[in-house]
Amino acid sequence: MEKILEAIQNGATGDQLASIPLPGSYRAAHVLKGEQGMWEGTPSQDKDPRKSLHIGEVPMPEIAPDEVAIAVMASSINFNTVWTSIFEPVSTFGPMARLGRESEWAKRHDRDYQVVGSDASGVVLRVGSAVRTWKPGDKVTVHCNHVDDQDPSSHDDSMMGSNQRIWGYETNFGGLADVAIVKANQLMPKPAHLTWEEAAVNALCNSTSYRMLVSKNGAAMKQGDVVLIWGATGGIGAYAVQYVLNGGGIPVGVVSSPDKADILRQMGCEAVIDRKAANYRFWNDDNTHNEGEWRRLGADIRGLVGEDPDIVFEHPGRSTFAASMYVAKKGGTVVTCAATSGFMMEFDNRFFWMRLKRLVGSHFANYKEAYEANRLIAKGMIQPVMSQVFDLAQTGEAAYQVHHNMHEGKLGVLCLSPQEGLGVDDHELRAKVADKLTWFRR
Ligand code: NAP
Repeated sequence: MEKILEAIQNGATGDQLASIPLPGSYRAAHVLKGEQGMWEGTPSQDKDPRKSLHIGEVPMPEIAPDEVAIAVMASSINFNTVWTSIFEPVSTFGPMARLGRESEWAKRHDRDYQVVGSDASGVVLRVGSAVRTWKPGDKVTVHCNHVDDQDPSSHDDSMMGSNQRIWGYETNFGGLADVAIVKANQLMPKPAHLTWEEAAVNALCNSTSYRMLVSKNGAAMKQGDVVLIWGATGGIGAYAVQYVLNGGGIPVGVVSSPDKADILRQMGCEAVIDRKAANYRFWNDDNTHNEGEWRRLGADIRGLVGEDPDIVFEHPGRSTFAASMYVAKKGGTVVTCAATSGFMMEFDNRFFWMRLKRLVGSHFANYKEAYEANRLIAKGMIQPVMSQVFDLAQTGEAAYQVHHNMHEGKLGVLCLSPQEGLGVDDHELRAKVADKLTWFRR
């Protein structure tokens, strides 16, 4: 890998890169099938990604005709790497075993280890024989929608594909490694004004928020809409705030500390709720709902922006869901993509049907949506929300911090890139957005 890195740093051509032999193994963050039962009986909060995420050499797989091999310069931590490392809600070795039964090439995914990670920026090293639009030397970012293009159900909206998967979560050969193997239809051009690590943190969360708010497949926000955003300085929330502001909406950002509230104000989000200071108790100790607290949240939102939310950007799940369903405006939309605090939700249906609300389930993004979201990053219209950068060797620690909500925005991870700050090609655009690139930096 040293030769490959040296060539990339010296600006080697695609032909030169393609002529360097790939090593037989590469460094990767991975979990082990033999350890999938290691947390049995342990409460979620005590399951420690630092113990289950290993850094070490794994064999280099052959690439399929529709795939590419990438030298990964940087990657990022997503919550799905936390889920994989704590083997919740299910072990990801099950989905990979099912994938392995689909074809000869897919068998490669079913191994006794899984290389995790669903984001990457880097340089294409090899392309399979059926790849047309990408070549060695291309600088890329990777979105995580792993689609079977021979499945008819993938051809309206590929997120509807019957065997759609998330790369690096439900597949092997993920991005938290020095090399990643991805389908060619996961590639997008690397935004030229960003460093490798800034370019690596966006695709998963940015595309998810784009679909949830901007796309017709999500809430299709319009100008003037009031949008309540839970976790507004978290991974998906921080992009959501930007989409609402860019689209002429009015974000109401919920966070849990004064520092996070300051970040929101810096981003231009004026209506901010500190949920810790407000001390909402949506659930009583006996596991019943406290409707008075839903009303208090609604009153706080009205106090800030004068009306109820047209859209609620929901993902904490069990702890907030009933309140989200209550506070949405008559005819409003709750769009949800997750359930961090628990996936068995309850809500009072009377406020849902009588007020003619909509609930939209959303999951990642199709190629077109991810590409559009990446284009906005490349134009400097949406900013990466990176707060800290870790080395690949510290992947477990970074995942631990996300698991315990100790972070803000996104955590970048350096893979082959030997230091922060490398990879910028467009210095002019960078200078134009420089002050926004540090919103989240600590
Ligand atoms: P994150 O960076 O950890 O941010 C989540 C934020 O939610 C936190 O910063 C926290 O903000 C807030 N939060 C956590 N627990 C909460 C609770 N009980 N009540 C209210 N707020 C709470 O994670 P993320 O990357 O934004 O992802 C959020 C969720 O979406 C995860 O479960 C992830 O797996 C999921 N996700 C799904 C998709 C998809 O395609 N379906 C894509 C991306 C992410 P404060 O403490 O500041 O309030």
